[in-house]
Amino acid sequence: MSTLLCVPIMVRDHDSALADAEQAKLLGADLVEFRVDEFFDGSAATDDSLKIVRLVSQSPLPCIATCRPTWEGGLYDGDDMHRVSLFERLGTAAGRDEHPPRYIDVEFAAYSRSANLKQKINLAVDHSAQQRSLSTSLILSMHDFEGRPADFNRRLLAMKAEPAAQVLKIAIRARSIRDNLELFDVLLHKDRPTIALAMGEFGLMSRVLAPKFGGFITFASLRESSGTAPGQPTVTELLDLYRFRSIKPTTKAFGIIGWPISHSMSPLVHNAGFSAIDCDAVYVPLPVAAADRAVQSLASSPLPTASQPGDGSFESFKATVMELLEHPRLDFSGCSVTLPHKENLVRLALEQRWTIDEASRTVGAANTVRVERSPDNSVVAVHVSNTDIPAIVSCLTSRTNNAIEPLRDKRVAIIGAGGVGRGAAYALASMGARVSIFNRTFARAQLLADQLSATPSKGQARKSEAHDVNALPWNDFDAQHFDVCINCTSVGMKGGPDSRRSPITFAMEPSQKLPGSPPPLEKIAMDTVYTPVATPFLAEARAAGWRTIDGVSMFVAQAGLQFEAWTDRPAPRELFERLVRMKLA
Ligand code: NAP
Repeated sequence: MSTLLCVPIMVRDHDSALADAEQAKLLGADLVEFRVDEFFDGSAATDDSLKIVRLVSQSPLPCIATCRPTWEGGLYDGDDMHRVSLFERLGTAAGRDEHPPRYIDVEFAAYSRSANLKQKINLAVDHSAQQRSLSTSLILSMHDFEGRPADFNRRLLAMKAEPAAQVLKIAIRARSIRDNLELFDVLLHKDRPTIALAMGEFGLMSRVLAPKFGGFITFASLRESSGTAPGQPTVTELLDLYRFRSIKPTTKAFGIIGWPISHSMSPLVHNAGFSAIDCDAVYVPLPVAAADRAVQSLASSPLPTASQPGDGSFESFKATVMELLEHPRLDFSGCSVTLPHKENLVRLALEQRWTIDEASRTVGAANTVRVERSPDNSVVAVHVSNTDIPAIVSCLTSRTNNAIEPLRDKRVAIIGAGGVGRGAAYALASMGARVSIFNRTFARAQLLADQLSATPSKGQARKSEAHDVNALPWNDFDAQHFDVCINCTSVGMKGGPDSRRSPITFAMEPSQKLPGSPPPLEKIAMDTVYTPVATPFLAEARAAGWRTIDGVSMFVAQAGLQFEAWTDRPAPRELFERLVRMKLA
């Protein structure tokens, strides 16, 4: 049976709750949950019960009726027995215009605490079953909004020992994405319809992948802020972005590891790509939090090695990747890796002796994992690579961007010496360009230049063919000395350190023009920043007559290369580009 999609509705008044239920149906939900904890005033039980019976009876979709008490994360702070009288009333609803809810949700803690309450609930459910074909089933639930309870397994066993519970529901706040994997195991070992979901940003995976593990219901909110549990996706996100209806036990899992990643464009393009080529795969955010010392600067730690002392960020990154790889039924087949874990990925690859491309090894940062599995699903090999580097080259040499070719001997300014700056400097130097690195922190630029000049150009091992790379002071930048200028800083990025300005200036006095320097129109300015698409850096370059390439081109190029590595099929790059530009517009 396929996983049901349920929209929780916090009932405040009858009409708007009904309108929300209509909207949920329109969007493609299978059922709604009427959360009556705020609406139901236990002290005037009879009157309120009638209103709730009317709401349930008029619902356009089958429904769950829930009156969640404050002690389990809800809003009802009345008497428990009044709540029970509501369930009794709902269970016995019968008549021309009345019918009971498909499910009532009762917390295991309340149910197991009072024999009287348990008996009344069981009777209400039994009564509905005896009276009509449309009967009510009991969902026995357990919620923990703080984390995974220490006695998780004991509570689960106790819930399983309750024969009257037709459905079990477990919802805990995930502290890391590894908590999702434990919930998947709960689903794999279920003895009846079971809902096992993780709340919070780390829990999205459990909601999206519920159909892969046979989860009975997943919950999604009607609109962005209307979720009754933190981290709930919207119905539209679940159905359109994550292609929820196409997820099945065989679906391969991909994702993006980073922090923060809630605004990443990668799920948008890769899921659309899987759909376009009819690939049985899904791509989800895999947040791995950054430790305080997560981002190791090149200045303090030039390149990752397998033996670096651990920091919190590496340890949690490693534990997550290894658990994803080892899960027997997840079919984890690859991922993108972004800030602050690109260096961690190289370190892990070296430690585990996975295959790693030369570019990642040299710049000390990688962004792609591809997992090769045997037919019995065991991991045969893990391949690590860096698609940012070839993406930068392909942007500069692509005809659609008015290619600059060949890159050999072109004078290139790399602005920034962080992760992307390192990749760009390596990429251009490998193509034989003459690279100058400018970085706010000069020592970082110098260190990178020293490393790259000691590395021979692609396929040329003779010392005389070493990369032509130097570091120059930040204030010495002069646009007229360069054919290509690439912004690899986060300056100009929305929400970045300085969103309103360009890190460098292209302005040039005519008197300053060097004899023999090419006219600006033959020059290319490329920004790696893509939020916004039109950055101050690109605006300045354009005003000075330079041709420009924006950060979306690089994003699409690197995503396209990842997609091809995972699927062995050409990436639908035009689709990727259209989706990203639409989203950012
Ligand atoms: P990073 O490792 O954190 O490096 C940041 C760089 O920006 C460093 O060189 C830093 O200089 C410089 N910087 C920061 N604030 C500055 C300021 N106020 N003035 C001057 N320089 C400043 O980041 P990254 O991974 O290289 O990413 C850089 C940019 O690339 C980000 O904006 C990101 O959006 C973009 N990016 C784009 C793509 C794509 O596909 N288009 C992919 C990845 C990244 P110091 O060394 O002095 O701190």
